[in-house]
Amino acid sequence: MEEYGERVEKLKDLIDDADYIIIGAGAGLSASAGLEYGGERFKENFPEFIEKYGFEDMYSPMFYPYKTSEEKWAYFAKHAYTNNIGMEGTETYRKLHELVKDKEYFIITTNVDDQFLKSGFDENRFFRTQGSYAKLQCSKACHNKLYDNRKLILEMIEKTDEDLKVPSELVPKCPVCGEEMDLNLRKDSYFVEDAKWHEQNKRYTEFIKKALNGKVLLLEFGIGFNTPIIIRFPFDELVKSYENVYLSRFNRSHLELTVKYNGNYYLVGEDELDKYISPEVKERYVPFNENIGDVLDNLNQNTSH
Ligand SMILES: [Zn+2]
Repeated sequence: MEEYGERVEKLKDLIDDADYIIIGAGAGLSASAGLEYGGERFKENFPEFIEKYGFEDMYSPMFYPYKTSEEKWAYFAKHAYTNNIGMEGTETYRKLHELVKDKEYFIITTNVDDQFLKSGFDENRFFRTQGSYAKLQCSKACHNKLYDNRKLILEMIEKTDEDLKVPSELVPKCPVCGEEMDLNLRKDSYFVEDAKWHEQNKRYTEFIKKALNGKVLLLEFGIGFNTPIIIRFPFDELVKSYENVYLSRFNRSHLELTVKYNGNYYLVGEDELDKYISPEVKERYVPFNENIGDVLDNLNQNTSH
């Protein structure tokens, strides 16, 4: 990897010169922004749930087999509040907004915390693929409509009792089929993609098509291998396939590119790329394993606009 200062200068120039910027964001960006699912943040916000259930972080409780819906919603409400509804936009996301706000940009994200919405980004310029903690859907997906849950979540938190149960009348029921509602998260085959989801998907596809006529910078933040086929692998394909596409990947531990070699796909580390891809492709790849917020600071200090 080139020296940090050189990579920052290179990315700064790429941002200045790009006609279009596509931001791809995963869990690592929000973790870097302070929205971690474990550690102190978990312990501070969920002491009563740790005591009752022995939870160790905020991932597993979303899949825990609660005995009653009243108990399940007590956790879901606290989780949705802590990670979305009760959160303002964070500094890291605002720094990213500062960096791209005057550019032609579009965002694709698997994050469900709505940090882009809260941090100044244009609502018409992003595709939220996996849902939102701030929306409800029918748990059996009987109809394709989403419902804001902010008021309900706040009331649930206010009325959660000592046994960590919400009042039964607050457990949300589908207005169409009467089944219980659920948070709008892609966790099973019942995920609801409403009209807005399809509209965002269409805008994203059209943006890529338009962008490929100019100089494109892909800015990827914190995407690992949970769902790489949504953002990470397509970005790899774009940078390898088009000489006007550049990719800057931010990841603490996974800076590989997918490379097709003898008919098979391999993940190739940054230091071994020379063996598998042309120097032209490598030249268009700018990886960072440094702290995202720090790099954004340096980029904001250095950009001329
Ligand atoms: Zn229903």
